[in-house]
Amino acid sequence: MVTDRNDALKLDAQDSLAALRDAFVLRDGLNYLDGNSLGPMQQCVTERVQRCLEKEWGQDLIASWNSAGWYRLPQTVGAKIAALIGAGKDDVAVTDSTSVNLFKVLAAALSMRPDRGVIVSERSNFPTDLYIAEGLAEFAGRGHELRLIDSTDELNGAIDEDVAAVMLTQVNYRTGELHDMADVTSKVHDAGAVMIWDLAHSAGALPVDLAAANADFAIGCGYKYLNGGPGAPAFVYVAPRLQDKVAQPLSGWFGHTSPFAMEPSFKAAPTIHRFLTGTPPILSMVALDAALDIWSGVSMEAVREKSVRLCELFIALVEERCAGYSLSLASPRDAAKRGSQICFAHENAFPIMQALIARGVIGDFRAPDILRFGFAPLYVRFVDVYDAVDHLLDVLKTEEWRQDRFMVKGAVT
Ligand SMILES: *Cc1c(COP(=O)(O)O)cnc(C)c1O
Repeated sequence: MVTDRNDALKLDAQDSLAALRDAFVLRDGLNYLDGNSLGPMQQCVTERVQRCLEKEWGQDLIASWNSAGWYRLPQTVGAKIAALIGAGKDDVAVTDSTSVNLFKVLAAALSMRPDRGVIVSERSNFPTDLYIAEGLAEFAGRGHELRLIDSTDELNGAIDEDVAAVMLTQVNYRTGELHDMADVTSKVHDAGAVMIWDLAHSAGALPVDLAAANADFAIGCGYKYLNGGPGAPAFVYVAPRLQDKVAQPLSGWFGHTSPFAMEPSFKAAPTIHRFLTGTPPILSMVALDAALDIWSGVSMEAVREKSVRLCELFIALVEERCAGYSLSLASPRDAAKRGSQICFAHENAFPIMQALIARGVIGDFRAPDILRFGFAPLYVRFVDVYDAVDHLLDVLKTEEWRQDRFMVKGAVT
């Protein structure tokens, strides 16, 4: 049990992942609990981007498409992510944004079930996922219905013979609730529908096994737990059994079987390549590429174990030390049903989070009343958990959050 700061320091001293933190650029005094929104930078990323700027682009120019491996980056970077999500190395491509990749795989899924008109998702899914589905349903002009459920318990009732595709985010962006990927996928398949998983808050946060779950499609972000940098390219997974069978609507030249044949009509590559669209953003690709090297040799089981311990400690300390301040746990209490983030609800969540941020404890606020803290095991320490709760208690006790300066909302919360 952790009763004081020294106990937390002892846990860090015994932590087998502790040394990985040194790879990250994290200034002194910063308690960064927002890596689930934007992962921090590693020193190797600066060096890699600099080399790309000065040598590959600056000196070698167009030759670098071949000589520096630019052309193959969607696959080489994809293979590094594949190792983290239980996918074959040729089954993941890095391209576009999560939103755009969702558009592609959802369109592909709908085309696989032309006689079915319903897309199922959760009302609490990340908004862009729902907006993309809404846009596609309207634009396709086939009158697709978006059927939203309020919990996984409703899934059985929501899936019938009209459902073409089910798209869920494995770890809920707000509460951190974790779906059982294998169980849900098998129910969806039993109903004859196609399963799409959004791994935005899973990749790099916990072990994922897409192949074992027999998932059809998956997508996810490069800039959260994968630390690829702001707006890093996203990834897309397509089950090998589907890669040469499904079509996607953004059929750009990078998805062509032979882009440099410059043929006038599209012929889809027989591989994951057909989910590429156009020229990749190379500076961003090399940043993500370098950021991913830290994972080689890291066991996702060890990551998960530390993640659970960090989260359990945070919950225990908040509930014990901040009792009486009207905070209520908004994440599942059972660690097996959670990702790597913890949320507490409080009616003054917004100014409380602003006061914490001013003290260097960086979490975020999610409307309407959620304080969200992400615990990325590669660099978050047990002592960070301890200190964060110390600050939270102080902010609540002194009512520091009532200051006017903490009431002002920026464009991004
Ligand atoms: C972060 C996140 C996204 C972000 O999509 P972008 O296209 O990168 O803006 C999408 N879906 C989920 C579930 C997310 O958590």
